[in-house]
Amino acid sequence: MNTLTMKYPQVQQFIDGQFIDSYEDRFLEVVSPLDGSLLSTVPLGSAVTVDKAVQAAQTAFPRWSAIPIKERVQVFYEYMNLLRKNRQSLSELICEEGGKTMLEATAEIDKCIELTEFACSLPQLTGGEILDVSKGVECRTERYPLGVVASIVPFNFPSMVPHWTIPNALVLGNTMIIKPSEQVPLSVMRIAAMLKEAGLPDGVFNIVHGDKTVVEAICDHPDIAAISFVGSTKVAKRVYVRGTSNLKRVLALGGAKNHLIVLPDAVPDMTASNIVASVTGCCGQRCMAASLMLAVGEVDHIIDRICDEAKRVIPGNNLGAVISRSAKQRIEKYISEAETAGARILVDGRNTVVPGKEGGFYVGPTIIDHVSADMAIAREEVFGPVLAIVRTATVSEALSIENSNPYGNATGVYTQNGGIARQVAERASTGMVGVNIGVPVPREPFSFGGWNESKFGALDITGKSSIEFWTKLKKITTKWNAEAGVNWMS
Ligand code: NAD
Repeated sequence: MNTLTMKYPQVQQFIDGQFIDSYEDRFLEVVSPLDGSLLSTVPLGSAVTVDKAVQAAQTAFPRWSAIPIKERVQVFYEYMNLLRKNRQSLSELICEEGGKTMLEATAEIDKCIELTEFACSLPQLTGGEILDVSKGVECRTERYPLGVVASIVPFNFPSMVPHWTIPNALVLGNTMIIKPSEQVPLSVMRIAAMLKEAGLPDGVFNIVHGDKTVVEAICDHPDIAAISFVGSTKVAKRVYVRGTSNLKRVLALGGAKNHLIVLPDAVPDMTASNIVASVTGCCGQRCMAASLMLAVGEVDHIIDRICDEAKRVIPGNNLGAVISRSAKQRIEKYISEAETAGARILVDGRNTVVPGKEGGFYVGPTIIDHVSADMAIAREEVFGPVLAIVRTATVSEALSIENSNPYGNATGVYTQNGGIARQVAERASTGMVGVNIGVPVPREPFSFGGWNESKFGALDITGKSSIEFWTKLKKITTKWNAEAGVNWMS
């Protein structure tokens, strides 16, 4: 490994408020998807590193959790200012390590600010309930943090997905170990440095870089109380099973296959630009990206406009890169197999090379018509800027295709008919639905989470639902007044 050509120094672990060299000697190259250049190397931690991080988090927990929430939250007001102040450089780093466009990367940082803003509102939302439940007897509820918790995150949002968990879990009094994606380990280091600068006490937030070994050590560590996971369904299932069998609270978000049902009465321009934005945004590497269009009846006029719109999306300009060479190969294989099976490629993004960035991993926008519902490209997660179109005669037929897919993140419907939109919203087998919206991510205070094979475990990961996940409820029943007398329950 030629470390002399690296743009950034070797990535370090972050434990007990210190950036430290790894205890292990396994490393992986961190490559920029934009041009294939070597950015850094990341250590692949072990159970030993996980244990050191857990010890630091355990030591920090009693003091951090004893601070009243209205004081804990002050750190995050300061942190939010740092996010704003460093918006440009944080966005540039996301572009470099994740392959995004600058517009997408700044939107990601803006979303981090919104997530932190929500965390800052938690003191207003987490007050307990109180009620006289019997004469002279009151019952009240109080929320308590769980202890040391872990957050395991994927590559596609190097900063935003960590912000789904860090601000809420910490404001609620927990201490945390985060396991970033080994493909994009740099942004999280900036998060750690800013949290420290904002005044977060050492040990409250720790980073253990690594791969499967670190994830398994987290699932097995007896002193980790809860795990949130975001990534592919295959790994989400493993983490859910292993974590819960070790008696931890686990919420594991998985992959997706999002369907868009398009009716002939949809507003053509708005629908086309919205669908193309959903397909190509973040190069299709969003768990909420449109992937399969169910074209109901005669919608050729809309498909024509979708193709026109897709041709305006230029790789290396307003379209970023996919994460790796193997991701590019996987996506192009799906396209070629669909073509061989008889589908018609209307816009072809294969073999894309961006001049001056020949080492980058680019796939152009791709629109494929006359796909049949049983093709792999119609059933599986492609995770690239590719829209497959299946023709259906009725909304019911479209819904039965959507319902039969094992995933359950998002469904969209494009129509001006409120009755049909309502019917789709009710019958879609997904946790999130968009009406004339291609990426229906519920913004705070609403919560984010899919159904079926897109999420394992109760509750959602963000918004008000996260309060339930990151805390446990205590119920205190009190009687002081002897004059209240005695009845059957007290
Ligand atoms: P991934 O499952 O490969 O990796 C996620 C995390 O798990 C990483 O930190 C990785 O190091 C670790 N990991 C990988 N293989 C492992 C194994 N065998 N055992 C234990 N740990 C392992 O996912 P990815 O490729 O980084 O991210 C893309 C996937 O994430 C897509 O499927 C996408 O839909 C999904 N995703 C889902 C959501 C959601 O909200 N549902 C959000 C973002 C991404």
